[in-house]
Amino acid sequence: MAAVLLLFSPLPPLRGLLQRCWGRLERGLSPGFFGGQSPPWGPALAVQAPAFLPQPVNDTSESSEAPSLFDSILWMAAPKKRRTIEVNRCRRRNPNKLIKVKRNIDVCPECGNLKQKHVLCGYCYAKVKAETRLIRLEMQKKEGGPFSAPSVETLVLYEGENPPENAEGKRIIERARKRPSWFVQN
Ligand code: ZN
Repeated sequence: MAAVLLLFSPLPPLRGLLQRCWGRLERGLSPGFFGGQSPPWGPALAVQAPAFLPQPVNDTSESSEAPSLFDSILWMAAPKKRRTIEVNRCRRRNPNKLIKVKRNIDVCPECGNLKQKHVLCGYCYAKVKAETRLIRLEMQKKEGGPFSAPSVETLVLYEGENPPENAEGKRIIERARKRPSWFVQN
């Protein structure tokens, strides 16, 4: 194909360019093959196996015919009769297969997101969790670890709050932010 293309190429400069490219490709790809030297090293297949494979004892290769096409097929269970689309839809849209309609959805009184009536609001819970983590970090900064915590009551004071009168002997953790609305001071 390349030779045909070279011979019948209508433009002589293009033909010369192609010939030069072809020569460079030959020289670059396999210098040993085209240059008459020894062939270069290449990957070869190496198999580690016993010298002979164990033959079956009852060698009845003459009597057994060639393996059938069906021997290599994995047979699976298949339906014998076609089910109509009405039957299939009755099964698929059966009322006890559908998603139940929830009637216990309520509005969270804190944040206004929808929540189930008997379940904690996820948004509020995430907020409480984050604030609790920050309070724990403050405690760790102050005391250096959970094992050196005093066994007294803990007071969390937010920005612009003063410790109450009965705060003697209590652990006081201060937070540098305004008190959230859901965290009441007792
Ligand atoms: Zn909420």
